[in-house]
Amino acid sequence: MDLPAQCSFNQPVSPKGAEPPKNADSVPVTRLAPSPTGALHLGNARTFIVNWAMARSAGWRVRMRIENLDTPRIKAGAAEATLDTLAWLGLDWDGPSRVQSDDLEPYRDAMRSLAARGRVYPCRLTRREIEAAASAPHADTDEAPFPRALRPAARPAVFDDVATNWRLVVEPGAVRFDDRFAGPQSLDPAHAVGDFVVWTKRAQPAYQLAVVIDDAAGRVDRIVRGDDLLDSTARQLTLYRVLDLGPEPSYWHLPLVRGPDGRRLAKRHGDTRIDRYRASGVAPERIVGLCAHWCGMTDERVPMPAREFQRRLDPGTIPKGDVTFTGEDDRWLLDGC
Ligand code: GLU
Repeated sequence: MDLPAQCSFNQPVSPKGAEPPKNADSVPVTRLAPSPTGALHLGNARTFIVNWAMARSAGWRVRMRIENLDTPRIKAGAAEATLDTLAWLGLDWDGPSRVQSDDLEPYRDAMRSLAARGRVYPCRLTRREIEAAASAPHADTDEAPFPRALRPAARPAVFDDVATNWRLVVEPGAVRFDDRFAGPQSLDPAHAVGDFVVWTKRAQPAYQLAVVIDDAAGRVDRIVRGDDLLDSTARQLTLYRVLDLGPEPSYWHLPLVRGPDGRRLAKRHGDTRIDRYRASGVAPERIVGLCAHWCGMTDERVPMPAREFQRRLDPGTIPKGDVTFTGEDDRWLLDGC
């Protein structure tokens, strides 16, 4: 898939307290990783804007990665539309975009390596069979961990069947990491999910594997994203460690934007897609201004260009709790049209 590159970033602005990069090899790298499901809404937008602003302030390189694997909801043209929307908001990135589906070989390679280490096995069990063998689901996820008893004793040393689900052998134990925003974390994937799927029967890597391989290959060492992915981070770090992928990234997991009912922002809260506001004539500065308000940068909602957001952002003022999107926010956005 050919997507436009963006290379409009010249001289990084010196960050609040951060060292400017010394040479190309020591420049920290982050990524914007939208899933082109056509659903870039105010919640995702806020995370992307914060990620971008932190990167531009601190001089990190920004890679663009289109995550179009492991979801049945990919829509034709959505990748281009997502990039267009992010650029409209005022975001830019460095170099060409990586589209995951363009090259599956790095993921197959990782699977071969995991198989050679005896850490994966094919699993042809149906969801019903797994549920029947599982104990009660966890209250927090509604999902029971994959039962340890279903793990085969013998595991193939070669990855030879791409049309089957493959699971990672997950040993019990806490995965610890110090989230730069959410604080110290200690999560046990064996307890939370058990042996999780790393390769799917659609002949594609699962999200967890794809992210890790792409981040490691792109030397991504700064990850900013929503805190709904905290659990996934423990799984991803497990893969980093099993595959010996080298220095682990630093993480900033930001609270989600929620609807007035406390649930994660979604269709049920009305149409909060950026494209809907754009089509209604809302200026990008209003979207960015609302995000600035949500980040504790302004007392009132005021329109703000992305560059000003970047200059003014102090991650320390972002509220630690979830943000609530209200009808008043929606009205304010549409007010200026
Ligand atoms: N593609 C994911 C999303 O749009 C982000 C995954 C990640 O940051 O690791 O929510």
